[in-house]
Formats: sequence, C-alpha cells, structure tokens
Amino acid sequence: MKLKSLEISGFKSFADKTIIEFMPGMTGIVGPNGSGKSNIIEAMRWVMGEQSAKDLRGTKMTDVIFGGTNMRGALNRAEVSMTFDNTDHYVNSDFSEIRITRKLYRSGDSSYQINGVESRLRDVHDLFIDTGLGRESFSIISQGRVESIFNAKPENRRAIIEEVAGVHKYKQNKDRAQKE
Ligand code: ATP
Ligand code: MG
Repeated sequence: MKLKSLEISGFKSFADKTIIEFMPGMTGIVGPNGSGKSNIIEAMRWVMGEQSAKDLRGTKMTDVIFGGTNMRGALNRAEVSMTFDNTDHYVNSDFSEIRITRKLYRSGDSSYQINGVESRLRDVHDLFIDTGLGRESFSIISQGRVESIFNAKPENRRAIIEEVAGVHKYKQNKDRAQKE
C-alpha cells in the first residue's frame, strides 16, 4: 500500500485547497519555522481519526479550522482527504484505491467518508486497524513521543508491542463482543 496524495482545505494554516502528491520513494517536507510542516502531519493524523484536540496543539477540535490571519477571515470548515494506492490489497478492501475524508464545521458537525460513502469513525478504524496506520499507531511518531515510548510503564509498552504484532485487533473485537 502506498500513500498517493493528501488534500488539505481549511485545516490549520492551509486556508486554500492544497494537494500534495507523494512520489515513489522517500518524501521530505522542508520549510521555515511556522510554515506548516507539522500541520501537514497533523492533517494526516486528523483524517485517520485523531480525537485529541490537545494532541493537535489545540484546546477544542474546532481549533483545527483555519482561524484567519491579518490578511483574510476565518473559515467555517476544515476538510482533509488522504488517498492510498491499495492495488496490493494490503488494506482489507476490494478497492484498489482508498480515499478517506474527514470534515468538521464550526458548528461542531463532522463527518467521515470512505471512497465518498458516509462512514463512521469506527469504519475508518476497522479499515486501518493492524496496518500500522491507525489513530494510535506508531507509524507517525511526533516530537516528544519517542521519549514517552521509552519511559512508558510496562503495561503501556506491552500495548505498543501488541499493536505492532497485530494482536490489538483481536483484543478490540473481544472487548466489543463482551460489551454487546
Ligand atoms: P517548525 O519548523 O517551527 O516546527 P512548522 O513548519 O512545523 O514549524 P507548523 O507548526 O506546522 O509549522 O505551523 C504553525 C503555523 O500554523 C503558525 O503560524 C500558526 O499560526 C498556524 N496555524 C495553526 N493553527 C491555525 C489555524 N487554526 N488557523 C490559522 N493558522 C493556524
Ligand atoms: Mg513543526
């Protein structure tokens, strides 16, 4: 599975629609301080279902919506889409391309779509669980997180290993079944 593109609109500093196409190989994002590099990574975490405003450097989730500058007014909607090439069917889906979209309005209304179909956060989680790309996954490691992994309590470190080993999915299914 490969990351194909990221489309950001009204999210943090990206007021205008911005499309990043990822070419084969490694991609580096460079730019001056405050130019939006971390915002790009946060857009990726957000579209995958990040639920913590604090982990997105805000206090409430609507803080991710473009809040305006001296030059232009605030916007009312943030929208991010991330597209994967799934021709190897690494993600358990018949689709050879998977596009996840998340939208959030200032009113608090929000939605997810998988290939254009309205979906729940849970559907997004289920699709990516055990691919290493989930919301709590370790394929995106932010500044400060490395230290927290090293300093984690044994039970938390075990959770990390279980996620990497692919056991997490079965535990989550078991927890759900017990609740239902
Ligand atoms: P550094 O090199 O210092 O890590 P960076 O390239 O990672 O910088 P970011 O942290 O991604 O930069 O971007 C910070 C910028 O994003 C700031 O100028 C901040 O004002 C702007 N920003 C963050 N949230 C919003 C928002 N909701 N609306 C408008 N601008 C925002
Ligand atoms: Mg940064």
